Amino acid sequence: MSKANVDPDELLKFEALAHRWWDPEGDFKPLHDINPVRVAYIQEHTDLSAGPMLDVGCGGGLLTEAMAGLGVQVTGIDMADKPLNVARLHAMESGAEVEYLASTAEAMAAERPEGFATVTCLEMLEHVPDFASTVRACAALTAPGGSVIFSTINRNPKSYALAIVAAEYVLGLLPKGTHDYDKLIRPSELARAVRDAGLALQEIVGVRYNPFTRRCTLSSDVDVNYMLYATKT
Ligand code: SAH
Repeated sequence: MSKANVDPDELLKFEALAHRWWDPEGDFKPLHDINPVRVAYIQEHTDLSAGPMLDVGCGGGLLTEAMAGLGVQVTGIDMADKPLNVARLHAMESGAEVEYLASTAEAMAAERPEGFATVTCLEMLEHVPDFASTVRACAALTAPGGSVIFSTINRNPKSYALAIVAAEYVLGLLPKGTHDYDKLIRPSELARAVRDAGLALQEIVGVRYNPFTRRCTLSSDVDVNYMLYATKT
């Protein structure tokens, strides 16, 4: 495991907050607020009836459970124990049918290559040592004809001001230290990793979030949060 693409310090951040995961007013408030928009985007751009879905870095299972609620056969993987346990408990309570496993994308790719029609990896790439390795693994996990969706945060002065200074220090939307500036990923860098992994880039779309109204909308502005949609031919 020592060579796994995992940063233990990053996992600790999520272990410490796991119990707050499903509190819509808690530390993961922005994830709750943007979740419906993410779900709608995935529904619109993927064929969810084509086969099982994998959610990489699922955390407490906000997206995973929402997808199960749509009747999708979904597996969630994460390397932090507590968020995974929170996800399992929540699914037990809600009755959602989800498979949760402690795994990395790389390990999963060795076990179930091309095993999923849809692979999502949201708000996770900026927490791993080598995001391109995760992108390659997500590509390997996707069945031919399938789709992959990533989301992450751009790296520039505006994203630093909004996603780190404002979100963590001024407004307290996220715990301090959630994001390291150096690990943020420019759309061009993610696009390159996606192409290098043999995927066909379809779209990059901005995700705008207004913390005051708590409204989330898709936009052409990819300066801060964005999603990338790719397919495997
Ligand atoms: N995708 C979820 C949670 C995002 S938080 C959502 O958007 O709602 C990021 C998650 O990635 C955390 O739960 C963290 O434990 C997980 N993570 C970080 N590094 C990982 C790795 N190498 N493999 C799997 N999960 C990882």
